Amino acid sequence: MSSPAQPEVPAPLDNLKIQHTKIFINNEWHDSVSHEKFPVINPATEEVICHVEEGDKADVDKAVKAARQAFQIGSPWRTMDASERGRLLNKLADLMERDHLLLATMESMNAGIFTHAYMLDTEVSIKALKYFAGWADKIHGQTIPSDGDFTYTRREHIGVCGQIIPWNGPLVSFIWKIGPALSCGNTVIVKPAEQTPLTALHMASLIKEAGFPPGVVNVVPGYGPTAGAAISSHMDIDKVSFTGSTEVGPFFGTNIIVCVFFRKYFFSHVNVSFAVDSAVEFAHQGVFFHQGQICVAASRLFVEESIYDEFVRRSVERAKKYVLGNPLDSGMSQGPQIDKEQHVKILDLIESGKKEGAKLECGGGRWGNKGFFVQPTVFSNVTDEMRIAKEEIFGPVQQIMKFKSIDEVIKRANNTPYGLAAGVFTKDLDRAITVSSALQAGTVWVNCYLALSVQCPFGGFKMSGNGREMGEQGVYEYTELKTVAMKISQKNS
Ligand code: ADP
Ligand code: MG
Repeated sequence: MSSPAQPEVPAPLDNLKIQHTKIFINNEWHDSVSHEKFPVINPATEEVICHVEEGDKADVDKAVKAARQAFQIGSPWRTMDASERGRLLNKLADLMERDHLLLATMESMNAGIFTHAYMLDTEVSIKALKYFAGWADKIHGQTIPSDGDFTYTRREHIGVCGQIIPWNGPLVSFIWKIGPALSCGNTVIVKPAEQTPLTALHMASLIKEAGFPPGVVNVVPGYGPTAGAAISSHMDIDKVSFTGSTEVGPFFGTNIIVCVFFRKYFFSHVNVSFAVDSAVEFAHQGVFFHQGQICVAASRLFVEESIYDEFVRRSVERAKKYVLGNPLDSGMSQGPQIDKEQHVKILDLIESGKKEGAKLECGGGRWGNKGFFVQPTVFSNVTDEMRIAKEEIFGPVQQIMKFKSIDEVIKRANNTPYGLAAGVFTKDLDRAITVSSALQAGTVWVNCYLALSVQCPFGGFKMSGNGREMGEQGVYEYTELKTVAMKISQKNS
């Protein structure tokens, strides 16, 4: 049988003009109250793409008022049938399909290579939105045989939700946040990351076009400590959902219900006889995908000592295959890091690895002299106490460590305050089950990696998060569970 044909990836749009740079409140575009704007930088060229209105507390207050108004009892949103909410979300997904090329080009100008933006980010986002659309009229409670009374439960919307999103998957994050919130009937104020507001603002225009009532979705671009903090501390926001770094996560106040901050993970290679090629490739993709800027990046790789040298050799061969350059150019496999701050941080961590005695196998510095590029880098002989083994690098840098026994590797892998995701490679079923049960991580992949799916719950153990996104659980995070108990005059069983 022939394998299915690969979908064609079209060329990105030429000279895409950015149309939407303002704050979106009540289905209208607003200047910032302060009249300040901030620059959006193309990380491949370091040039300014456009200036965007800079939201702050006063703008967040306006957005919260609009979202509260849209949530009032009797409002078009509150009286809308659940199936109609689902229809609106599906309509939005259709508009995303229409604008697939535009969204992918915009995402790629701002973050990541075009092929991925087209085939993964945009595709995954559309699929996720349809999944959440399908939930809208399937969120229900139970009837309960309580003693004496008639009791039922309702899964109700929570109210006004603040949603703060990161820069490493701007469109996907936007959909993962608004999808379940709207499906359940909430209203939202979204703050995209300051580095990457473009696709969120285009989505705002599609939300209006799809016919969502004013105030249901509001998008306030701005910086974290100003606009972000105004959301996380707002007294009239009922729930805050945040995805970002563990440095920021703990600052969230008590009004936070879901706080998903995704950082650091581990990836254990546990095996002797498993096809090494496949493990090398998964381990490689696990850490190099999207320039290493993914929350589940396989930053710590433990390899059993009997295959260690061969594993390192093949990993280095693989890392050397990258073609770096402008993410919009065809044939590129690695783009720039998101901004100067990340670039400096990654290069500093690479230097620390060299100083602390890890063996630099390839890469090890900046690539080119314009744009925030980092050479694909592989370190071997990495030990647990080195900074490159402990701190989140969020760059194309692989750390390969050696282990002898299963007990040892479980202990070492779990010796971290983080726990978002892990991977295990082995042909031995017994080992796969033992290790995947013992790893303290929200997701464990066995003989695969990065197998994320909107149908499955996703979130971290320990410092890597509270609550879950995606799947049934991810939908329920945006509901309150109410118990209604009724006195009945005559009880019949
Ligand atoms: P990174 O350091 O990788 O950029 P951050 O956690 O700083 O990750 O950013 C993730 C999101 O959180 C962004 O939208 C950012 O603007 C926002 N953010 C940053 N600091 C704060 C803060 N003090 N309060 C609320 N949001 C914040
Ligand atoms: Mg930050």
